[in-house]
Amino acid sequence: MPELPEMEAWRRALDDPVSAFPIVKAGPAHIATLKTFDPPLSSLEGKQLAGAKRRAKRLFFPTTDGELVLLVHLMTAGRLKYLEAGEKGPKTPAFQLVFEGGARLVLTEAGAKKRAGVWLLNPEEVEQELAHLGPEALGIGAERLAKIRAAESRRLHSMLRDQRVIAGIGRAWANEILHHAKLSPYELTRDVTAEQVEALADAIDAELTRGLELREQGADDKRTYRVHRKLGEPCYVCGTPIAQVDFEEHTIFYCPECQTGGRILKDRRLSRLLR
Ligand SMILES: [Zn+2]
Repeated sequence: MPELPEMEAWRRALDDPVSAFPIVKAGPAHIATLKTFDPPLSSLEGKQLAGAKRRAKRLFFPTTDGELVLLVHLMTAGRLKYLEAGEKGPKTPAFQLVFEGGARLVLTEAGAKKRAGVWLLNPEEVEQELAHLGPEALGIGAERLAKIRAAESRRLHSMLRDQRVIAGIGRAWANEILHHAKLSPYELTRDVTAEQVEALADAIDAELTRGLELREQGADDKRTYRVHRKLGEPCYVCGTPIAQVDFEEHTIFYCPECQTGGRILKDRRLSRLLR
């Protein structure tokens, strides 16, 4: 799933092009993709977008008159593309905007399941829609992070991915960040020292910035990630093969040498069943 670095790289790439010309046609949209029906999509026609904004993993596009906002959540498989006039695109995009002159913004989604969503809202509704999100992960700082981890006891990997407390990090960047901070994904927030909180805050900024720079250069997952999905490959710090463990609904990748003092993490779901 695209996370903060990926979404921010797309936002930067889309900001100028989407605001260059007024919209002449909004839609069609796949019935599962468009989540709102009032106001109708056609109310975007004739309006111009003020650019691309981002909050956590969502992109949004306000109109220059301040009346409407197009909110986009790509989920796992959704992709947004800006196509120049005449440039070939998908036959049936899940959603599209056509701009004066013929350029298009298209949303595609691989696979049969349509999970990505588009909402056409007024600015107050957007605020409500985003109100549950915690502060942006990039630049969060040790002080705020210390408060967050004091709020409830839980495993670090799960805390980092909770959008209500820190917004923008998912499973891939949680793996990269914890490795950078030399912290175990299973470490409980209550057991983390003040120095470790500082290391975690630094790692969040360092890794998300690194990711953003690479994504802006067009780097793919293989080049961008150093720990995530690197099972068996040598750790970039110590050379130990990267290990994996199933946790909640997904797989965590980590270096046993750098992060867990040589311990191999056990699948918690399985050990719970066997107890
Ligand atoms: Zn290592």
